Amino acid sequence: MNRLDIAVLPGDGIGVEVTDATLAVLRHVTERHGIGMRFTTLKAGAFAYQETGEAMSEEVFERAAQADAILLGAMGWPGIRMADGTEIAPQLDLRFRLGLYAGVRPIRAIPGLATVLANPRAAEIDLVIIRESTEGLFYSRDKGVVTGGFAEEILRITRPTTERLARFSFELARQRKKPGGGVTLVDKANVFRAFAYMRSIFEEVAIENRDIAFGSHYVDAMALDFVRRPWDFDVLPTENMFGDILSDLGAGLIGGMGFAPSADIGDAHAVFQPSHGTAPDIAGKGIANPTAMILSGAMMLDWLAVTRDGGQACRDAAAEIRAAVDKAFGAGLRTPDIGGPAGTKAVTDAVIEHLK
Ligand code: ATP
Ligand code: MG
Repeated sequence: MNRLDIAVLPGDGIGVEVTDATLAVLRHVTERHGIGMRFTTLKAGAFAYQETGEAMSEEVFERAAQADAILLGAMGWPGIRMADGTEIAPQLDLRFRLGLYAGVRPIRAIPGLATVLANPRAAEIDLVIIRESTEGLFYSRDKGVVTGGFAEEILRITRPTTERLARFSFELARQRKKPGGGVTLVDKANVFRAFAYMRSIFEEVAIENRDIAFGSHYVDAMALDFVRRPWDFDVLPTENMFGDILSDLGAGLIGGMGFAPSADIGDAHAVFQPSHGTAPDIAGKGIANPTAMILSGAMMLDWLAVTRDGGQACRDAAAEIRAAVDKAFGAGLRTPDIGGPAGTKAVTDAVIEHLK
């Protein structure tokens, strides 16, 4: 196995803090498994913009695009905006420019961690939202029209992207082997033609994947079922904006944004980052929960195992990180976002201690 080249974009705010924590865990676990991994830290984000006039220079983009995988903290800061008034969001540029159509957001209950749901089955929550990340309503970013008492945005669904999203979803369900699992498309096909089109494409792909159960669900009904019976779901592909909203709802079910990892995956590239943002309210205090990004690091190892010849060692390392997180919280570790005392460093140390 060649040395794996990882581009690291810590970004702003707690992005930097949770990146440090994640790199400490990754260095530990890769060393123990004999995985050669080189990390190159690159500058991008709101403070980079303030310093250099560019949120992500072309040079940084090129370097990140060359790497085997990209590990990203979070980007953006209140009061720092692009000259046109829009938010600093180079992570969105990465999604569009690298064609990262599948936003993979696992929502998995950590054993022993109390959730907002009183039902004991909440401990079984284990689903994956796949947020289409290059079109949908977000395609309209920078294209919306506001003029003379009238505003309009575009919802875009294309066949090639939808087919790829569907194939990705069925393949993921096949790998996950969740008993009673399968693919459930989340849409609003009863109201919008674009979603009816999306559903028809999924139905075509479902026919090629008859070994995997397939169904669809309206997004409003899914919002209800996320609270009523989230343990019944497995792989949930959906449009960009719906995925954005359901991801936060899902994170809320398992302890909050601090526990929700994410990956943006395309056919040739992938970015791994926590689902949360830069959290200016708690930045610099050493209390950010790094679990989401540590789990994103595990997702990166799983992806490298398949796409970059990382092999079984990467797979084992990923499983070990997830087990260490479970053991640490199982042993009583509690972070401030869930009412406990353990800051970023305490979580990092506890996870490293439970590795193996
Ligand atoms: P974005 O625009 O990037 O989605 P956001 O405005 O939705 O960001 P986040 O930064 O994701 O905001 O988080 C919202 C709040 O949740 C934060 O202000 C913070 O209080 C809390 N939070 C988010 N992530 C964490 C974390 N890792 N640890 C502790 N608290 C967090
Ligand atoms: Mg948000």
